[in-house]
Formats: sequence, structure tokens, C-alpha cells
Amino acid sequence: MSQKDLYPGDQLDQDPKKKTIVVLGNGWGATSFLKSLDNEDYNVVVVSPRNYFLFSPLLPSVTVGTLEARSIIQPTRYITRHKKRKCAVYEAEATDVDPVKKTVTFRDASETNETHKEVTILYDYLVYGVGAENQTFGIKGVKEYGCFLKELKDADKIRRKLLDCEFERLWNARRWRF
Ligand SMILES: Cc1cc2nc3c(=O)[nH]c(=O)nc-3n(C[C@H](O)[C@H](O)[C@H](O)COP(=O)(O)OP(=O)(O)OC[C@H]3O[C@@H](n4cnc5c(N)ncnc54)[C@H](O)[C@@H]3O)c2cc1C
Repeated sequence: MSQKDLYPGDQLDQDPKKKTIVVLGNGWGATSFLKSLDNEDYNVVVVSPRNYFLFSPLLPSVTVGTLEARSIIQPTRYITRHKKRKCAVYEAEATDVDPVKKTVTFRDASETNETHKEVTILYDYLVYGVGAENQTFGIKGVKEYGCFLKELKDADKIRRKLLDCEFERLWNARRWRF
């Protein structure tokens, strides 16, 4: 990691005279947009319930312990810290978009803030990168008994299940036989 990566230097302040781009999400689409955007002429606001980019192809490796969760994420504030102009990053979930009034409403989703306040802000341009929900394709029982693998918490859940449930259960079964 170079000196410039660690200390990228001063950033321009947000400027009320410039247009505002609100980016919903910080997954593959939204982060790729954010990284390639020259934001000198824009105020950028990022809204996402998680405050990091997740490298999804490596999620399976977290379920079996080959990789630690921290190795497959990059904080969104690291990315925005390297932009020319300061960006606002909210760990929040968008709940409403009004394309006529050009507003977006979002609710705080951080675990450290118990109020989960909802705010509405104006945008000039909206980047809608909120991804998709898990699908079950109507297969009965998938939702109740299956393990989805889309977020870090899913990988953690599978890892715990493998360790706590299977290995301990097998070990106990073996122990009582002798
Ligand atoms: C385990 C796994 C392995 C994969 N491997 C590959 C692969 O090898 N190659 C490949 O091409 N694709 C792969 N994919 C698919 C790839 O991850 C998706 O196609 C890609 O993530 C879609 O990008 P996206 O930007 O549309 O959505 P996402 O990357 O899912 O991003 C959605 C973003 O929106 C945010 N968000 C959700 N709701 C809200 C809300 N209400 N308000 C604000 N933000 C919100 C989320 O927090 C997230 O930041 C894999 C997926 C998984 C799960």
C-alpha cells in the first residue's frame, strides 16, 4: 500500500452550489460507479444499510473458514476518502423515492444508533443500485430450512452451523459410544 493510499491528502468541501448525486447501495454496481466518478463538480451522498463493499465471489470461503470476513470487504469511507470532494456516507436503508419532488427518504440502520431516525433529502441525480432480494422460485421449505448466502451475516451463520451443530453433534455421538 502506497503513501498516497494511506494519506490521500485534503479533499474539497461539499458545495451547496453544485448538483447532488445520491447513490443508493454500495454493492458491485454502485461502488463501480462511485470509484469511476470524478466528483469535483458534484456533491455525492451514499446511502446503504451496510457501510462496506462486499466481494461476493469470496463469500463461500468465509463459510468454511478459508478467509476471514474482514478480508473480503472494503469500507465505503475508504473509497470516498480518495475522492476529490468530500462525500457523505449514511449507514441507512432507503425507504422511499419521490421522482417528482426528487427526494429520497432513508432510515438509519446502524447498530450503534437506537433512534433509527428517518430523513428526507433532495437529489439532482439518483443512482439506484440496491441489488436484488433472494429468490426461492416458489420451492417449498427453502425459506424456512435453507441457508441463503448473500451477505456476511449469512456466511457467518453457515460457519456457526457447521462448527456448532455438525462437528459438535458428531463428536458427542462418537463420545457416548465409547
Ligand atoms: C456468493 C455469491 C457469489 C457470487 N459470485 C459471482 C461471480 O463469481 N461472478 C459474478 O459475476 N457474480 C457473482 N455473484 C453475483 C454478484 O454478486 C451480483 O450480480 C452483484 O452483486 C449484483 O450487483 P448489484 O450492484 O446489482 O447488487 P449488490 O452488489 O447486491 O448491491 C446491492 C446494494 O444495495 C444495498 N441496499 C439494499 N437495500 C437497500 C436500501 N433499501 N437502501 C439502500 N441500499 C440498499 C445493499 O446493502 C448493497 O450494498 C455472486 C453472488 C453471490 C451471492
